[in-house]
Amino acid sequence: MTYLIKKPDSSAKLKILGEVARFDVCGFPSIFAPKQKKFQRFKFIYPAVGKKGSCVRLFKVLQSNACEGNCFYCANRKDRDFQRINFSPDELARLFIQYYRKRLVDGLFLSSAIYGSANQSEEKMLATLQLLRDKYGYGGYIHYKVLPGTDEALIKAAAHLADRLSINLEAPGEKYLARLSPTKKFTRELMGGLEKIARLNQEKPLKAGITTQLVVGAAKETDREILSLTNKLYQIYKLWRVYYSAFMPIKDTPLERMPPCPPLREYRLYQADFLLRKYGFTPQELPFEKNGNLPQGHDPKLAWALKNKDKFPLEINKADFSELLRVPGVGRISAKRIVESRKLEKFSRLEQLKKTGAVLSRARNFLTLEGKFYPAPKEKITSRVNEQLFLWEEL
Ligand code: SF4
Repeated sequence: MTYLIKKPDSSAKLKILGEVARFDVCGFPSIFAPKQKKFQRFKFIYPAVGKKGSCVRLFKVLQSNACEGNCFYCANRKDRDFQRINFSPDELARLFIQYYRKRLVDGLFLSSAIYGSANQSEEKMLATLQLLRDKYGYGGYIHYKVLPGTDEALIKAAAHLADRLSINLEAPGEKYLARLSPTKKFTRELMGGLEKIARLNQEKPLKAGITTQLVVGAAKETDREILSLTNKLYQIYKLWRVYYSAFMPIKDTPLERMPPCPPLREYRLYQADFLLRKYGFTPQELPFEKNGNLPQGHDPKLAWALKNKDKFPLEINKADFSELLRVPGVGRISAKRIVESRKLEKFSRLEQLKKTGAVLSRARNFLTLEGKFYPAPKEKITSRVNEQLFLWEEL
């Protein structure tokens, strides 16, 4: 049953509408949740990564949690009996600007449930943005969520006011989306919406581009299917980022008894996504297991190298940049340093490799230095979660 509270207090609203906004991912993989806590003085403030790796605190909130949609996994679904609340544009703009002026937040992430219709909800969100930009002169970062089924004219208006637009695809195809939502339509509404924002971004690039989010682990989709869609989104629609959200069952929803998706699966997806975007890997090269998922025991780059032992060890003094990028323990910065340093002096000692910033305990197992191989003892190739492909990138 849906009901609205007429005059709730603004800070109580913020508590509730900030808490439910956490289901939209835009920052740190959930495996780092304990690290996030130190940034989170309030439930509605979320850390994301700004330019040059700085931490940006986003005021992340829903305009409304009253929804016409009935997605099986969602806290805001129509059939769930709980408190429904709306912010008026004026109230929300005022609240945000108070926090911004007190320097408690650096930017806004605005989303909403579908209250009435997608267009009605977007009109409210747009009015909030307009107040912020025109009345309060706010010139900072805004991430704006486009709701499925929104008219193009409203999306265009949002593109003028926001730095980033996003629309959640939720699943890697119609079949999987049907297991998550009886109301969303993958091709017409979600992909159609994404195509619209991609077109706008192509005509006039948004400062922080366009993004999407997928729910992982609730629809029996495989990592292969997810990453194949991800690659298409980067190649064709030029997305800035795809975010992955490990499914968490919510009480009083049809999926409440489904097990949660392990955060490690979400993290491996982020690592593989990184290989697609920054390391020149194709989806076909990723080291999927027979069940179509990434191995959990090793990060995908190490798993790929262990599957392709015939390509190693590489001679560090001869390997080109793209080959060095595929060496476990060697990131983009250390690969660049290797290429630069060896112009001055050949690599013949492990200390030289260490100085490039490479993870020595790992890289030494895949490289020769002047023809000599210095592998670490076998037990040094660990299966712990490593942060070699670190993922905290710009907004
Ligand atoms: S449309 Fe679906 S996912 Fe979005 S708020 Fe409503 S129920 Fe939740």
